[in-house]
Amino acid sequence: MDITAYKVFVSQLENLADDQVVDVSEKLRLRHNSSTVQKLAAERFSEAGCCPHCRSSRVAKHGLARGSQRFRCGECRKTFSALTGTPFHRMRNKDKLLENAACMSDGLSLKKTAARLGITVTRAFTWRHKFLSFLNRQKPQALTGMVEADETMFPQSFKGQRSDMPRMSKRHGGPCKDGTGLEKVAVMVVVQRGTRKAYDHVMADGSTPSLTEALRPALGTDAVLVTDGNAGYLTVAAELKVKHERFVSSYHGKGGKGPAHVQSVNRYDSTLKTWMARFRGVASKYLANYLGWRRLLDRFEDALTPQQFMFHAMRVNYLTPGTNT
Ligand SMILES: [Zn+2]
Repeated sequence: MDITAYKVFVSQLENLADDQVVDVSEKLRLRHNSSTVQKLAAERFSEAGCCPHCRSSRVAKHGLARGSQRFRCGECRKTFSALTGTPFHRMRNKDKLLENAACMSDGLSLKKTAARLGITVTRAFTWRHKFLSFLNRQKPQALTGMVEADETMFPQSFKGQRSDMPRMSKRHGGPCKDGTGLEKVAVMVVVQRGTRKAYDHVMADGSTPSLTEALRPALGTDAVLVTDGNAGYLTVAAELKVKHERFVSSYHGKGGKGPAHVQSVNRYDSTLKTWMARFRGVASKYLANYLGWRRLLDRFEDALTPQQFMFHAMRVNYLTPGTNT
């Protein structure tokens, strides 16, 4: 809009009725959110600077489609947008993405998110998992220094699954034992002491080979693995050729033995469990998504802006906050 037209437009705002002011404000807010998402997408695209289909750098602008810039590859001739190759490709209501990111920064339930965005709970669920699909993969690798590791358990859950269930749903009178006897999912949780670098991995079981494979990417060559008395970790440390400090809680107490303690990882786990409680049990097949969500929130000490949430949700790589945000 040129400056003259803009001045006319602004002068006309005076004539708006109160309800029209509300309506225009809402439209402007969505317009602003939409352009913020476009900017974040453009930023991500310019980092990659290549065609998402064939990786060629011969890319040129190719007009606008529904308000967003299209590009065309000079090599494979395919067209794409800055969001192609991200979980947000082909999503409708892009003007609501930033608001969804805000709900996720606050860890809101699906019901509250759906109400705030004016979408169905089913769609809020789909969106949530689109936002988590890249976060799921963002984990720090090769941690150094004192690296505390511990396993934690989550109840096995088939929530939301109506078919292919290995056992009867509780609601339909299937077996339900309290406490012991229920199936559990084992998760390896790792924290580099003195940092907010947390790593986790959903394991097939709690066996020593599973512990080893879970820890392999997490440990740098000079890491000192710190664990409780689980004898399996002796084998893990030998296999992965890392130094190992351990304590036996029945002998040394839960506080550990000097620097051999797992208090950082215990703290992380306790926050994780408290935070997860709001979802009233998550389906095991989505557990890794929720773990990724929690890792991101923890890195930002639960104070992410919606823009920061969106920034990370568009990227596969683990980027350190502060240097890339
Ligand atoms: Zn191409």
